[in-house]
Amino acid sequence: MVRTYPLIGEPAALDLVNTLIRRGGPQQTDLIATGRDLVHWLAARGSSVDADLAQVHKLRDCLSELIDARVHGTTPSAEAIAYLNETSTGRPPQIVWAQRPRLASDNIITESVSTAFTLLTAPDGAIRVCAHRECTLLFAATNARRQWCSAASCGNRARAMRHYQRSAHL
Ligand SMILES: [Zn+2]
Repeated sequence: MVRTYPLIGEPAALDLVNTLIRRGGPQQTDLIATGRDLVHWLAARGSSVDADLAQVHKLRDCLSELIDARVHGTTPSAEAIAYLNETSTGRPPQIVWAQRPRLASDNIITESVSTAFTLLTAPDGAIRVCAHRECTLLFAATNARRQWCSAASCGNRARAMRHYQRSAHL
């Protein structure tokens, strides 16, 4: 079965955090709630499907906290910082050069940790939240003009909303 995901193909740390869809309030959808979900998601992003669900969830909690803090300019807990540093121990990132360089390991833990270091230490604004007010998906600001997680979903929803508001005021 082919599943579709709202956003995939960002740096691994953001893809991982984006698997917990948060919409204002307690309502959440976890796209990798079970081991089976995790296997589907890893396959969809072309990662090795060899990963431990509990470890992936724990790293996701840690990265969510660190990335939220980076985006909002707050300070995360010492535990979250320590967990990321601990997880990176013994996993030095290595690259392979096939047409262009990429990480040698396709393990989601290694890839998430390594991309998290890059994103968290990048200049302000390197991580963006989708501009749609009901969307909390994160993406890397590789294109300065990008506002939406996906132009096809949130970009269109926003255009439809503006159109509706204009017609409602006539
Ligand atoms: Zn969005």
